[in-house]
Amino acid sequence: MKILMISDHADPLAEVGAKEAGGQNVYIFYLASFLSRLGVVVDVFTRWDRRNKKRIVKVNKNFRVIRVKAGPRHYMPRDNFLGVIGEFAQNILKQIKKENSKYDIIHTNYWFSGLIGLKIKKKLGIPMVHVFHSIGQIRFNTLSKFKLHKKDYDFFQKRILEEKRIARETNGIIATSPVEKKIIEDLFQVSPEKVKMIPIGVDETVFHACPPGQARKDLGLSTQKKLLLYVGRIEWRKGVATLLFAMPKVLKKYKNAKLFIVGGGRTQAAQKLDQAERNRLNRIVKQLGLTDRIVFVGPVDQEHLYKYYCAADLCVVPSYYEPFGIVPLEAMACATPVVVSKTGGLQYTVKNGETGYLAKPRSPGDLSGQIIRALSKQKSFFSPKCLERVHRLFGWEKIAKQYPEYFKKLIRLK
Ligand code: UDP
Repeated sequence: MKILMISDHADPLAEVGAKEAGGQNVYIFYLASFLSRLGVVVDVFTRWDRRNKKRIVKVNKNFRVIRVKAGPRHYMPRDNFLGVIGEFAQNILKQIKKENSKYDIIHTNYWFSGLIGLKIKKKLGIPMVHVFHSIGQIRFNTLSKFKLHKKDYDFFQKRILEEKRIARETNGIIATSPVEKKIIEDLFQVSPEKVKMIPIGVDETVFHACPPGQARKDLGLSTQKKLLLYVGRIEWRKGVATLLFAMPKVLKKYKNAKLFIVGGGRTQAAQKLDQAERNRLNRIVKQLGLTDRIVFVGPVDQEHLYKYYCAADLCVVPSYYEPFGIVPLEAMACATPVVVSKTGGLQYTVKNGETGYLAKPRSPGDLSGQIIRALSKQKSFFSPKCLERVHRLFGWEKIAKQYPEYFKKLIRLK
């Protein structure tokens, strides 16, 4: 089986943690890697966003990343992608013609890729499966409650209409949680049979448990303090500000607690993108008098992250909206409990009271309450349940196998 995968802005080989490189990049990388191990051939087409990146990278014998010229070969804000969709599709088709490639199915990610996929599907006559990652209407609802500019409003109207069209015209849709499956069925009025639920996975060889004491020693951290961890992009919707506002109450109960914030841009260009949010967070830290309690670690590679998860007593995911949320899975795979916002896929991945607790989104009061509740128990209370849940439901090895099975069904139906 040969898959034409499209991931417009999320290059699977990009360095993650910055403003626009996170979960989707990680998902595409692991999905393509695990599929390639099953003998499935995967070509990932992504936008050529830096002149000095190689056009084609052969990751292994079955997995290639092909950068496609669409707009300038440098950074372009994601919201400008609509203007280069035609060029993107044309250049994918050119590459296919040049190599005389024959694909069995198109797998598209995020709405711009969905639109590109619809164009290509028409030309190639093969089925298409779409993964939304984030749904315009839900994001719009979240933003309109808190902060929405007039220009955002017009853009969202366009996105909402186009996402409806993608849902109608694609052959299949993958939802990453039961919550998302229900939203897709209701919002886009598509039949339940059209939407297959396959969660995102975690690589248990990359994220695995290790003794917390040893992990702290290796990272040069105190073994005495309660250690809280945030991992992710530094972006408004990730809710880091809410976590900061929750800290004073946590510190009243656990005076020696420290919060480590992992993530953010690596390169100067990437740092520029999340600079405004980092400045805002730094101001909040100062305003709350927390300078000695919060550590901005910066970005950490996937292969080294497990040590931070292992070292932590608790990982916190305070998002305002989270379509799936890979970070809690990574934490749980390292035997670390999580406190997450009760939103989107987090309600599925985290079992309340067993692998951690759910907190009301954007509520520092509730978040601090749930953090204290989790810290009042020994980490060992949660650890076996965290490991068991990840292994049973979210190991990439098991999850990747569901893809070719589902794809075969769609190819037969076509
Ligand atoms: N991540 C990373 N290094 C960092 C910060 C984040 O590798 O410094 C990874 C993290 O391990 C996870 C992904 O970025 O795999 C974030 O995915 P998630 O779904 O939690 O959030 P999203 O980026 O989709 O909002």
